[in-house]
Amino acid sequence: MSKILIVEDERKIARFLELELTHEGYTVLTAADGREGLQKALDEQPDLLILDLMLPELSGIEVCRRLRHESDVPIIMLTAKDDVSDKVMGLDMGADDYMTKPFAIEELLARIRVALRKPRTLNAAADAEPEKEGLLKAGKLTLDPERYAVEFDGEAISLTKKEFDLLHYLMLHRDKAATRDALLSDVWGYDYAGDTNVVDVYVRYLRHKIDDRFGIHTIQTIRGVGYMFSYE
Ligand code: CA
Repeated sequence: MSKILIVEDERKIARFLELELTHEGYTVLTAADGREGLQKALDEQPDLLILDLMLPELSGIEVCRRLRHESDVPIIMLTAKDDVSDKVMGLDMGADDYMTKPFAIEELLARIRVALRKPRTLNAAADAEPEKEGLLKAGKLTLDPERYAVEFDGEAISLTKKEFDLLHYLMLHRDKAATRDALLSDVWGYDYAGDTNVVDVYVRYLRHKIDDRFGIHTIQTIRGVGYMFSYE
């Protein structure tokens, strides 16, 4: 069973997570400050880290930055506040995902399952193996960012700019679940203040224009998390 390291200085939260994750069958280790967390992450080689952002000794960001020199273990960051710059910095430092406290335990468990399933790679974009500059291929589906063109088996698919951007993002991160938050941030922008259902609506548009039309299944729903492009 997977080994999870919880680095969290708030005792109540750490204890709660420890109980929940143990109950789920994970082997759980804990650390109460950043320095101890980094040391345990290196010594114990956990399969996943749950890393609080605000920690004594070393901040979560710093732990993440140092750990990434040594390891590509999945890291889910916990942020106490809904501070975009902290999240961005965490993701830039190599965290795989983040959750804002307070969070629903079911959502964290879902994200843990997703993170443990991901094939590990330090460079997400390298997965796409573009043939020409930026060209993305999945089976008979191609997306050419330079021409803003999407085709299936040579047949053009007409997409709006936003549909194109969403598909582009999902294909770049193929076989990896993208959270609604990540899609909103990266496709719609951090200042996006509209309805969060917009992601679901646009996924429906894409499914209609691609999956329904060509009888394929490209965008999977990851329950409680978001969406994943997965198609050969
Ligand atoms: Ca804290």
